[in-house]
Formats: sequence, structure tokens, C-alpha cells
Amino acid sequence: MLKGFLAGVCLGASVCGFSQEHPDVYHRNGFTLIFECEDSTLDVKVKDRMIETFFQVYAVLTAQYNPLAERQVNFHIDTAYTGVAEAGGAHVRFSSRWLHAYPEDIDVVTHEVMHVAQAYPWERCPAWLTEGIADYARYKYGVDNSGAGWSLPSYRIGQHYMQGYRVAARFLVWMEERIQPGIVYVLHRKLQMGIYQDALWQEQTGYTLDELWGRYTGEAAEMSVQR
Ligand SMILES: [Zn+2]
Repeated sequence: MLKGFLAGVCLGASVCGFSQEHPDVYHRNGFTLIFECEDSTLDVKVKDRMIETFFQVYAVLTAQYNPLAERQVNFHIDTAYTGVAEAGGAHVRFSSRWLHAYPEDIDVVTHEVMHVAQAYPWERCPAWLTEGIADYARYKYGVDNSGAGWSLPSYRIGQHYMQGYRVAARFLVWMEERIQPGIVYVLHRKLQMGIYQDALWQEQTGYTLDELWGRYTGEAAEMSVQR
């Protein structure tokens, strides 16, 4: 999730009124992770996996999507937060409740640090596509999606790309495979530069966004009939 899309939430750990007195600081390969944890009961194995996943995935995502991305990122394990996780700037907040309930969902880190790498001017970017690209990155670069039982859903009636997240990510995978390899990166760069418009889909592929969605859903329906 992206912090900017939630009304009234704080703008980052540093302005939440919370500050761990001695956060853990890790450095590796030019990147720094500051790990602030309110939750003394957080499983150390989960914490270690989060740190490992950060260094492994963030290096790849920044190389691929944003070589100028922040080199220092803050993780804040929040005991009061009722969402799952959210990113704002280079701050990521994780729900300790979620990490207790779903300790295997380690690629929540991948989704969130993709938001850090995206560094979009959020107000000029459609939320569905921002979240779709973050889940696309989780799908592509996640360290253990299967261990979390996380996958992209096949198309079902009732879905729409505006739902974002995995539904949009699945559509983006189809776009890459069936319409235009590299399209996600093109969209990503336009979003990053703040010049994304829906007209881009037609400029790039010859089809409008809704025509592409229609083709995607049509192919999915055909495949389900053939089965
Ligand atoms: Zn997100």
C-alpha cells in the first residue's frame, strides 16, 4: 500500500511521535537500513528475513527501476497500525500484528520497497497502476511468494484493472507476454516523470487501455472455455 492514498495517516515514522531510542542500523553494498521496532515479541527470524529481503531485493529494484533511489531506508514495526504495510518516501511502516499472523509473508517487504524505488509524484499517478506495478515487482522479484501462498489470480468475471494490486499485476504480466515486452518499464518511467496519461497505452500499443483489458479478459474467457 502507498501511504499517500490513505487519508489522515502520518507522513512517516519520524513524524509519528514514535522513535526508537536506538534503532538497529545495517549497511550493505552502499545501502543502509534503519530498523525501528516497537514490538519486543517480533520473531527474530522474521526480522532477519525482512532485513535479508530488503538488501537482496532493493538492490535489484533500484538497479532496474531507479538508480537514483534513496540509499537509506527506514523500516518501522508499528504495534498500533491496523493496516498491513505502507510506504511514504523512504519510510516503510509494517504492522506487527500482520507479521505475527503471517510471518511467512516476507515479500510484503518487496512490495513496499518497490514503492520506495518508484518514487512517483503520487498525486499525478493512478493508484491502481502504482499498486499494480508494486505487485508486479513482487511477482517478479519476490524471494518466497510461494511460501506465503501468494500468487497472481487468473482472470475472473467481476475483476477490473482499477482494482489494482494483484489483478492489475496479472494484467501487466499478460501485457508483457502477449502485447509488448518492456511495457511495464515504459509505464513506470512515465509515472516516475509525472507525465503518465491513459493515452500512453494507445501510443505504445495501438490499443486503448480499455481495449487492452477487453482483449485480456476475452483471451482468459476463451481459455476457460477450451479447458
Ligand atoms: Zn502498495
